[in-house]
Amino acid sequence: MNTNNRQQIALISVHGDPAVDIGGEEAGGQNVYVRQVGEALAQLGWEVDMFTRKTDVNQPNIVQHQDHCRTIRISAGPETFIPRQEIFEHCDRVVEGIIKFARQEGREYSLLHTNYWLSAWVGLELQRRLSLPIVHTYHSLGAVKYKSVQEPPQTATRRLEIEKAILENANCIVATSPQEEENLRSLVSSRGNIEIIPCGTNINHFGSISYQQAREKLGFSPKENIIFYIGRFDPRKGIETLVRAVANSKLRGQEPLRLIIGGAYRPGQSDGEEKERISKIVEELGLSDITEFPGRIADENLPTYFAAADVCVVPSHYEPFGLVPIEAMASGTPVVGSAVGGLNFTVVSEETGLLVPPKDNAAFTEAIDRILSDPQWRNQLGENARKRMEEKFSWEGVTSQLSDLYSRIINQRV
Ligand code: UDP
Repeated sequence: MNTNNRQQIALISVHGDPAVDIGGEEAGGQNVYVRQVGEALAQLGWEVDMFTRKTDVNQPNIVQHQDHCRTIRISAGPETFIPRQEIFEHCDRVVEGIIKFARQEGREYSLLHTNYWLSAWVGLELQRRLSLPIVHTYHSLGAVKYKSVQEPPQTATRRLEIEKAILENANCIVATSPQEEENLRSLVSSRGNIEIIPCGTNINHFGSISYQQAREKLGFSPKENIIFYIGRFDPRKGIETLVRAVANSKLRGQEPLRLIIGGAYRPGQSDGEEKERISKIVEELGLSDITEFPGRIADENLPTYFAAADVCVVPSHYEPFGLVPIEAMASGTPVVGSAVGGLNFTVVSEETGLLVPPKDNAAFTEAIDRILSDPQWRNQLGENARKRMEEKFSWEGVTSQLSDLYSRIINQRV
């Protein structure tokens, strides 16, 4: 029974806990998306429960984000971090946990919004048992990802099957870019409904501080050329390309350069190993003097780093959407990125930054140098970027499109 007149919806994000700190190995864009969407949906009048798998015995089972929006952690398998590839076997426990929680709390969800293929399976199970409509966001697509890895993991076949099943059986798929829709149609199935609704960013948070103020705050000189990367330490992110590109910059030795590579790394974990690998390359290339690794940058400090940078580099080999580029652009900073996935949609080359082929060190060098050596053009790109984000990528705009979609689906069923 409804406890108020709000419609109840469940966002499911089995491996991406919307209530944790962002920036660690397994905490990235999906966590941000689910939390931002959940909180904004509550503001729009929905009653939002966000379900995730519990990954630490000391975590509270329920986190209340604000009125009408909370995260519920379901105990499914060991209450510790386990890699994504090992989570599927515990997904049936997530289904049971959600059903039990809903019963105990008297929840009657009108719709499920699932995130990533693990949650898609949970959603399809709940659809089968409770006959609920589903909206799904992929966040990453196996059919695309496995093209760029040498040895697909053991879970690959199952993942591909579930990604096809959700496309054909969900009430609607939310593709975050036209490129994703094309991939779904050409690589997964011609059946099923797809609507394009991008990811968003907080345009009040990013863009809240000027270039000069940000430089002062971080103690960087106005003369320095600052190249900024932020994100997970994962080989797929292409940090090696960035480092090699900077090593060949024509500005080296002529202009003051500073390379900031932000993101969490933990010794002994896979992000720590990638950080070590990158640090060695930095040393070998003689870049140690100009490179710094500030570690995880907390959300409240991120706008300052983005604003202080002359260019934000996103050298990913594959990027389904990419929140970092839109955060940079909302901060008025041009992006040099790989021409892959969502970046082809969010970054307009020659207008809000430059897109180059992934893994192409020389092309990255040239693009970075072009922007750094023309401050006036840099400012123009930054202004264009900010404008594009205001017009198309605010969370408010994105969430109101999702809210309309939910209402249409729910009303069709009545
Ligand atoms: N992030 C952060 N602090 C860090 C590293 C990353 O807040 O130290 C955030 C970043 O701002 C972005 C998200 O983590 O919002 C990464 O999302 P993206 O889509 O760019 O990449 P993913 O991690 O999903 O591959």
